[in-house]
Amino acid sequence: MVTRCNCCSTPPMSKLSMSHISETEAAISRARGAFLGLAIGDALGAPVEFMTRGEIRDKYGVLKEMVGGGWLRLKPGQVTDDTEMSLCIARAIAKTGGWSLTGIADHLAGWLKSKPIDVGDTCRRGIRNYMLRDIIETPVNEWDGGNGAAMRNLPVALFTLGDQALLAEYTLQQAHITHNQPVSDAASIYFGKVLHLALTGRSMQRLRREADQLVADYPTFCFEPYKGLATGYVVDTMQTVFHCFFKSRSFEGCVVETVNQGGDADTTGAIAGALAGAYYGEEAIPARWLKKVDKKLVVEITELAETLVRLSPFASAGGVPPSP
Ligand code: MN
Ligand code: MN
Repeated sequence: MVTRCNCCSTPPMSKLSMSHISETEAAISRARGAFLGLAIGDALGAPVEFMTRGEIRDKYGVLKEMVGGGWLRLKPGQVTDDTEMSLCIARAIAKTGGWSLTGIADHLAGWLKSKPIDVGDTCRRGIRNYMLRDIIETPVNEWDGGNGAAMRNLPVALFTLGDQALLAEYTLQQAHITHNQPVSDAASIYFGKVLHLALTGRSMQRLRREADQLVADYPTFCFEPYKGLATGYVVDTMQTVFHCFFKSRSFEGCVVETVNQGGDADTTGAIAGALAGAYYGEEAIPARWLKKVDKKLVVEITELAETLVRLSPFASAGGVPPSP
């Protein structure tokens, strides 16, 4: 019997090449889940950004729908800076077909000039320093522990899939355009590392080991027992994401649990949505949520996710998973 490749239905040259092709296709599908999950988590959480858990409970019971509104007066399904900055990085990589830090900074500058609906103070300062003074690496500042660098790192994880060293190198470069701070760096890199595992189909236990490694390296990230803080401080953000991701058993469960913690709900929602989207896959994203997101945006995100993975070391190696 001739087995046919499940993506293009042509007979494979060999069993080996076929399994490689399907590994890459599987990673691309999970990458679409991750990028769409990021946008979905952002859009679901943004209307309750800066609310407390109690305020959300009083107003919505459990928030499970794309309601819009909030302090930014959003349309239901509308995304914010978390998704938009990730798109800047993804578009810059796709446009050059490779890594260009100035290309990324230029896209962020263009975005800032477009008067986005929301932008964090540290992000604004870093991008303005690039625009006005050509500074592409902001100096170390222990107070820059916000989640603005971590929240936009998904495209870097997709583009470097299959190469952890490259992930760390490019993560630091993009992060330091605005945030140069040790826990921000650690969170950004480990967000990428856990994504790499999820994108290559690893188990929940394997992902957990990676999160535990972050805690071993930086005990401040300890998320068990959960302290219940979901602020924009990247340590609180990652604690919330990991707590909710590891206790839930579905994409919807994870994202709902996360945004209902309140605080920086769009950003915790975006990061948790990316992780859960990579882990549970694009099929697990509820259609009722996806329907609310701008159609053109969904198409662009879907295409960018595929482009980035096709450019990655993982795809070049024929979809061979990196060593454990
Ligand atoms: Mn936001
Ligand atoms: Mn936010």
